[in-house]
Amino acid sequence: MQLIDKLSILADAAKYDASCASSGAPKRSSEGKGGLGSTNGMGICHSYTPDGRCVSLLKVLLTNFCLYDCQYCVNRRSSNVPRARFAPEEVVKLTLDFYRRNYISGLFLSSGIIRSADYTMEQLVQVARSLREEHEFRGYIHLKTIPDADPALIEQAGRYADRLSVNVELPTGESLRTLAPEKQLKTIHQAMGTIHQGQQAVAGEVRAPAFTPAGQSTQMIIGADATDDSTILRSAEALYGNFGLRRVYYSAFSPIPDSPNSVPLAPPPLMREHRLYQADFLLRGYGYRANELLGGAGNLALDIDPKLAWALEHREHFPLDLNRAEPAMIARVPGIGIRTTKRLVELRRQRRIRYADLARLRCVLSKAKPFVVTADYHPPQAERSSQALRQAMVERPQPQQLGLWG
Ligand code: SF4
Repeated sequence: MQLIDKLSILADAAKYDASCASSGAPKRSSEGKGGLGSTNGMGICHSYTPDGRCVSLLKVLLTNFCLYDCQYCVNRRSSNVPRARFAPEEVVKLTLDFYRRNYISGLFLSSGIIRSADYTMEQLVQVARSLREEHEFRGYIHLKTIPDADPALIEQAGRYADRLSVNVELPTGESLRTLAPEKQLKTIHQAMGTIHQGQQAVAGEVRAPAFTPAGQSTQMIIGADATDDSTILRSAEALYGNFGLRRVYYSAFSPIPDSPNSVPLAPPPLMREHRLYQADFLLRGYGYRANELLGGAGNLALDIDPKLAWALEHREHFPLDLNRAEPAMIARVPGIGIRTTKRLVELRRQRRIRYADLARLRCVLSKAKPFVVTADYHPPQAERSSQALRQAMVERPQPQQLGLWG
């Protein structure tokens, strides 16, 4: 098979993986000048799922042969798709050729499991080692980690890769047992723990060799099983807390050709994935806890964003006097982000905040105005019921172009 034919199959096979954003990688400046490329924290290139979503950056599989039979995966053992396999040196050559032509900024490499977890991981590491040591490649490398592989191999991968990811795939052990019985949540967590320990070992050590400087990430597939958003967010929260993950990526399940009966025929609403990303952003950046956003079982609202939903359920905190409130509470006002909160706090050190300041500082007034008090403004909407406010603020988004906050 020609290299270009393999590339066609193995790039297409990789497009379902959403876990390869490349932001946050510091430049490898300590490794000297004259190497190829540099890590600039930008995305690499884009790939699209069949329904048109842009899900990730540069990506290719080493092979789409796989011993496992995960029901949601197009590359599963029982799938009737064309198969191909790169030799490690072929991936190295492609990466260097594409890099020199300015097509890419780095490599995202994943793989089906062939022969054994250790053998597959060795092949992935071989590619990264060759790029870094033989070709002085300074571009971005994101390696997918095979959870069952020897921890020593995962540690080697961490020395060469900017980012490692171990896909948890499904939010609970029970979901894995049903849809991916050859995988175990325990070994996935162990692999994440190995990476986390490697990161902690070099943290603060100026002379220590880099170890996954862009951190580790994972992917959760949404809507392949009946797990609700509450469970998904709690699972993500635990991963952030236990393993210091940089990002959890949520990927709405894409029905695949000839899919088994165990997975749905239709995808979940794209808005569900979007709301999970918004909720995840609140966990990471705003100090919300998963059980604040979804107290009981169930899913996030689709018609309003989770920050607005929280504010409408906690009217006892509002309207909030922006001239007196704690910064952490100001950041919880719908339509006011972290950066604007800082600017408001700086401003009120000089003078009292007025309503016009909110527009000037680019608050989303349509969302913020029922929830804030300023020196010259008290919201008439404060008397309206949460239900009435919600009706007035329901979003009607364009499904193909979703900003983080609608
Ligand atoms: S191990 Fe990975 S490639 Fe293989 S079937 Fe499962 S998800 Fe697909």
